[in-house]
Amino acid sequence: MARRQRKKLIREIAQQQIERLFELADLISGTRPLLSDRYVYLAKRIGMRHRVRIPPHLKRRVCKHCGKYLVPGRTCRVRLNGACVVVTCNACGKQIRYPYKAHRQ
Ligand SMILES: [Zn+2]
Repeated sequence: MARRQRKKLIREIAQQQIERLFELADLISGTRPLLSDRYVYLAKRIGMRHRVRIPPHLKRRVCKHCGKYLVPGRTCRVRLNGACVVVTCNACGKQIRYPYKAHRQ
């Protein structure tokens, strides 16, 4: 197999692994939160190793500051302030902001 083709295949597998790890993290977040943090950490490492991006909807489930897996209502607080979605991590207390545009009517 050509080098470029192989690289592409490896990236595809990495992508699948990242998605699977997040699935698993979600499944066990209620019973073993520390293990779900570990899964998320592994997903991040795989992404960096193979230069695969973590999809944005999954990236939002991780604390940027401490790497904790975030479950709204349990490990984080989610609030809207008119311009941003403000996610407060319950583990480290830091905030992550995501801008949004209010729906115009
Ligand atoms: Zn945190």
